[in-house]
Parts: sequence; C-alpha cells; structure tokens
Amino acid sequence: MKFKIRTGFGYDVHQLQEGLDFWLGGIKIPHTHGALGHSDADVLIHVICDALLGAANMRDIGFHFSDRDPQYKGIDSKILLKEVVHLLSREGYEIGNIDSTICLQEPKVNPHIPEMKACLSKVMGIPEHDLSIKATTTEHLGFVGKKEGVAAFATVLIYKQ
Ligand SMILES: [Zn+2]
Repeated sequence: MKFKIRTGFGYDVHQLQEGLDFWLGGIKIPHTHGALGHSDADVLIHVICDALLGAANMRDIGFHFSDRDPQYKGIDSKILLKEVVHLLSREGYEIGNIDSTICLQEPKVNPHIPEMKACLSKVMGIPEHDLSIKATTTEHLGFVGKKEGVAAFATVLIYKQ
C-alpha cells in the first residue's frame, strides 16, 4: 500500500479591539484588548484549521464554517478544530506534526505557550510533542507592531497509510 504524506499552510489575521475577550491558542489571555471576529476569533486555531484543510485539499475554514452563518457566531474555535480533525480522519488522514507562529506585539505570548500546547493537542488528540507553537513581535512595525492586530502562520504534515 502507498504511504501518502502531504503538507499544508495557514495564515490568518484578526483586528484587536479594546474590551474584547482575547482567545488565543484555545485559552483566554488576560489583556486590555481582544481579537475581533465572527467566532471567538482565535487566530492560532484558525491557521491550524486552514493548514490541516489545505494539506488535505479540502478548501478552508470559511468554506466549512461560514462567517455569515449565525450558528457560528461567537463559537469556541476549539469546536471547529475538532470538526476539522474529524473531517480529515474521515478521509483517512492522521496528523504528523504542526508548527506555528503567533505574531503579536503585546502581551507576551511565551508564558502561555505550555497551556496552549496542552489545550490544543488534547482537542486534536495528538501528543504535545507534535504541536509546536512559537511567538514573535514585529519589532513595532506594521499592524502587528502598532497593536492593531494579531497574525499567525502554521504549517502541518498529514499522512495516510
Ligand atoms: Zn480567523
């Protein structure tokens, strides 16, 4: 039987606004500002979903969970991630590993990474060792640096026997 390996990539941006809850990597980060979106606007989960769907050539998160559909208003993105993993497993795909980077000027993301890894690896049913989460600022440059938004990138490897 042929062993099939595929890679995927995800990119997403959300605006930051004062007074909103800031959901990032499946957990709530204490901060004055939060990300704006139709769902809970968890940018890290969204890029992981997009990378997984892209790897399987199954379109993107907006295709499966429309931001015009009221049933997804304010939804916990962990529910979407779980559904994406389910969609892939129906096609016979398993997750090899995930690497991701969050771009945020403040607050500091690094102290929260262990909790994010524990949370999201549990949602996806993968070992924590297979999920890498990194964080960077943009040295005060651009919309991230000016604290107007948060961005994230992810690459994934999926496989099927
Ligand atoms: Zn998003």
